[in-house]
Amino acid sequence: MNTADANGALEGTLFVVAAPSGAGKSTLVNALLEREPDISLSISHTTRPPRPGEMYGRHYYFVERAAFEREISEGIFLEHAEVHGNLYGTSRTTVSDLLCQGKDVLLEIDWQGARQIRKSKPDCVSVFILPPSRVELERRLRGRGSDSAEVIERRLHNSREEISHAHEFDYIIVNDQFDDALADLQSIVHAVRQRAGLQWKRHENLIAELLA
Ligand code: GDP
Ligand code: ADP
Ligand code: 5GP
Repeated sequence: MNTADANGALEGTLFVVAAPSGAGKSTLVNALLEREPDISLSISHTTRPPRPGEMYGRHYYFVERAAFEREISEGIFLEHAEVHGNLYGTSRTTVSDLLCQGKDVLLEIDWQGARQIRKSKPDCVSVFILPPSRVELERRLRGRGSDSAEVIERRLHNSREEISHAHEFDYIIVNDQFDDALADLQSIVHAVRQRAGLQWKRHENLIAELLA
């Protein structure tokens, strides 16, 4: 449920999306953000080297491991985790500033990060994306053409661990036909926005009038 701050203003909702690498998480999230411009995507910090075409500050804040470790000790991360041999983390202030402004925020993070977020932000809404089969997951990872054969092998190997945590999430979507999966994701966002706690606050004038 959305919570009101000390001034009674509504905080935004925190959405968490996770998936094994190659399931289509980023493609789905980007399509969702085109249709729902009111959601802000949190740009993570990572020690992973940029893929061709990836830009600093747009896809990730690419940082050296030593700098990342220093930032961990300074407490700048709301959550952080080691994934596929690289460190990834979500900036605490970026997320809390956006939520305080009443904006909905989406995190694309792994299951370890999702677990940390659930602890510190129990109101978050978490979604896990599954591929329709193991063969298709491998086809998408290879077809994307963004990673070396060795990195792909590692990601395929790690997919079992990631998928074994899917039941910890609020929702599971199977990304078989892309448009169906996108509609499922959008329907979750729409349903969350109609929750009573949020609507009661949003429509307080209407409710006051109806109760008068
Ligand atoms: P992808 O699998 O194609 O999205 O490849 P990436 O290298 O971009 O991401 C690898 C994994 O790291 C994915 O499972 C992401 O969800 C996860 N990840 C990305 N950013 C973060 C973050 O800020 N925190 C955590 N915990 N995981 C992250
Ligand atoms: P992730 O962010 O989960 O690692 P991506 O969004 O990069 O995955 O998707 C992996 C690849 O699969 C991309 O090349 C993407 O275009 C493709 N893809 C995503 N969804 C589908 C789908 N439903 N059907 C076929 N290909 C898809
Ligand atoms: P790219 O990353 O080059 O945009 O797409 C890689 C492959 O993923 C394409 O060959 C295509 O088959 C598949 N793909 C990308 N986007 C979509 C989509 O929206 N729907 C479906 N069904 N397949 C997609």
